[in-house]
Amino acid sequence: MRYVDEFRQPELVHKLVDELSATITRPWTIMEICGGQTHAFMRFGLDALLPSEIELVHGPGCPVCVTPLELIDKAIAIASQPGVIFCTFGDMLRVPGSHSDLFRVKAAGGDVRIVYSPLECLKIAREHPERQVVFFAIGFETTAPGNAMLVWQAKEQDITNFSMLVSHVRVPPAITAILSSPGNRVQGFLAAGHVCTVMGYWEYEPLAERFRVPIVVTGFEPVDLLRGLLMAVRQLEAGRYEVENAYGRSVQREGNRPAQELIARVFEPCDRAWRGIGVIPDSGWQLRPEFADFNAERRFALDDIQTQESSVCISGLVLQGRKKPYECPAFGTECTPMHPLGATMVSSEGACAAYYRYGKRAKQGVRDEA
Ligand code: SF4
Repeated sequence: MRYVDEFRQPELVHKLVDELSATITRPWTIMEICGGQTHAFMRFGLDALLPSEIELVHGPGCPVCVTPLELIDKAIAIASQPGVIFCTFGDMLRVPGSHSDLFRVKAAGGDVRIVYSPLECLKIAREHPERQVVFFAIGFETTAPGNAMLVWQAKEQDITNFSMLVSHVRVPPAITAILSSPGNRVQGFLAAGHVCTVMGYWEYEPLAERFRVPIVVTGFEPVDLLRGLLMAVRQLEAGRYEVENAYGRSVQREGNRPAQELIARVFEPCDRAWRGIGVIPDSGWQLRPEFADFNAERRFALDDIQTQESSVCISGLVLQGRKKPYECPAFGTECTPMHPLGATMVSSEGACAAYYRYGKRAKQGVRDEA
């Protein structure tokens, strides 16, 4: 298959690993921001091929994992109300809230529907004018254009029984928070290629300069990931700190300007809480005042939400690259994909799920649920 097989060729993979080994002279800690990249490293066994000097740490780039507990609880409260059709991406169903999850709401008779495109929600709203249709709009810059289009079209088409529970987050403020932390160990970043396809990488240039860290835009196939790592290591070894693009077939510096303009028309920046991490200034997007009618938090009475996070789960530390999933005492025992204590064990981009799924559990001697 074109654009996949070329980037999985074993000879190329081994050549890049050899180049990495020949380049590296000392230990470096590099963070892949995106959970999709974490899964790709594990799935293809690349982590086992890397020179021992490279320590990969996993970043907060999993949209399901960082959706704040308060919004999960609000989603559960809305979905539980009679007359509501609650639409969401499938990953969100098993994410634990304080006392329940959307899957249990659905099992108890709630009308919770999995959608594959946000625009399906408008069709559902048109078909059920007597019901309230709510979409759980989560994600990074990747999903923001589609969700912005959803609200834009709802307004254009005067659809009044539709609203959105918004939990959008942005990557650059998260990088700033990680690098500003006194406990930071990250010396270089692999930036998420799909986010940069939308936003470009011009926003990262002042960050690389300010914190003196290399940031390399990287794709998701084995050759992409190893090329990204090699470029980051070359910079680190040479004392450079620039933004480089290892994903040129998809990403341009300026990004997708029409998508950025659409986002800016519908959303405005806001402070946003990240699950397990806390509030990061300017790290979210919320609906602009002219789209406030589509804000589900205004449409539904949600004042009595009392959040209660698991006392065991250390996913906040995992998401900041400060702990590995297997360092969590619940990993693979109390916490498994079927009985998750944290979102990082549920999401298809979660770091705990990656370690569980791709064999790290065996190394740690924990039970296999599969
Ligand atoms: S293994 Fe489970 S409890 Fe531990 S950090 Fe991951 S999600 Fe949280």
